[in-house]
Amino acid sequence: MSTAPKALFCPTCRKVVLATNEDFPFCSDRCRILDLGKWASGDYKVSSPIQDPDLLEELARSSANRHPHSSEDSE
Ligand SMILES: [Zn+2]
Repeated sequence: MSTAPKALFCPTCRKVVLATNEDFPFCSDRCRILDLGKWASGDYKVSSPIQDPDLLEELARSSANRHPHSSEDSE
């Protein structure tokens, strides 16, 4: 009855992604990796989508050691 969507918005960058895309439901392999990274780092609760590809790339690079507040808590 219901079929798979022909297209949807990329969970990472909200770009339209066709179901024929090999990286579906992501628009690209980069977005898929970024999405996994967000889950891993616990940042997925941030609901505002980032649409700047350069910023996404920067986040992907720095996600390994991105803890802006933790250093302030150390005693
Ligand atoms: Zn995307």
